[in-house]
Amino acid sequence: MKKYVTCAKCKEEIEHRDDLVACLIIIVLQSFHEDCYVKEMKGYIGPGLSFPTVPVNGNMWTLNAVLCGPIGLLLILFGSVEGSKWIGLLFIYPAVFRLLAYFLYERRLSRI
Ligand SMILES: [Zn+2]
Repeated sequence: MKKYVTCAKCKEEIEHRDDLVACLIIIVLQSFHEDCYVKEMKGYIGPGLSFPTVPVNGNMWTLNAVLCGPIGLLLILFGSVEGSKWIGLLFIYPAVFRLLAYFLYERRLSRI
C-alpha cells in the first residue's frame, strides 16, 4: 500500500519531490505544494521556534543540518561544561527536522 504525501493547504496529493515544500510550524512539520506554500506561508511570521519562511527541505536547512548536527551530537555525548547538553540539543534541532522531512515526505516522492 502506497502512502501518499498530501498538501496541508489544498489536501491534494503531492506527486513530485520538486513540488514539495516541507515547512516547520512551531514544532509541527507540514508538507505543501510549492504554489500553495507561496500563497499561504511566505511572509508568515510565526512564534519563536519556527522558521516558516525557510523550507525545511531547502538548501539552508540541509547545510545547517550538516554543519550543526555533528557539533550537537559531540556536545551531547562528550560535553563537559555545564549546560553543554542543552546547547547540543539546540545544535541538533535542524538536523532532526531535516531528517524527518526526508523520511516522512521526500523518500516517498519521485524526483521528477
Ligand atoms: Zn496544495
